[in-house]
Amino acid sequence: GLDLTLKPYKDRRPIVISGPSGVGKGTLIARLLERYPGTLATTVSHTTRQPRPGEVNHEAYHFLSTKEFESLIKSNAFLEYTFFSGNYYGTSRQTIKDQQAKGKIPILEIEMSGITQIKQNKFLDMRFAFISPPSLEALEERLNKRGTESAKSIERRLEQAKFEMEHAQIPGSHDIIIVNKDLDEAYRELEEWVSGDAAPALDT
Ligand code: 5GP
Repeated sequence: GLDLTLKPYKDRRPIVISGPSGVGKGTLIARLLERYPGTLATTVSHTTRQPRPGEVNHEAYHFLSTKEFESLIKSNAFLEYTFFSGNYYGTSRQTIKDQQAKGKIPILEIEMSGITQIKQNKFLDMRFAFISPPSLEALEERLNKRGTESAKSIERRLEQAKFEMEHAQIPGSHDIIIVNKDLDEAYRELEEWVSGDAAPALDT
């Protein structure tokens, strides 16, 4: 594909992007990949949740049964995994290797407990960005508009979001926090950080 990479990446560590469900992470990551297809690539996680309309197996996720997931856990296939909002999610060691073998910087889109597991693993060196909504109210509105979740699922995801946003305030929990109030502005900040030209993150 056409690679519009203009500047060399100084930092080739895997990039971990987290933030509450519905915050716009997917859109931001899609833009990054569009702009830097030769440099960046997302990892494909495994999950036991049902595919949403339009989600293609082995692209959005590797969709599998709980039994299959648990068997992968037993065989130590996961770098990290979690049980989130009623389903398993995990990053396999293989998906990271696959992207690095292609010369790409892997981007992981995972939730908080996965980040804790990665941080506790002294063999892993990654960098961490948290995408925050301007407020919980704004997030609720977005989740309702997206219309992909049941009322129960939205409620659970908002609970989780509150927890994640509080956790993100702990100094050192992320290298950068980007507030997605204006999408273009948030994208610009993210791109600057990803490509290594950003100033050191404030206070965290
Ligand atoms: P969704 O169901 O909306 O696709 O994802 C729900 C949450 O699971 C999101 O916060 C997403 O970042 C997280 N997630 C997706 N894949 C993984 C994974 O492999 N590991 C972990 N820890 N979280 C994941």
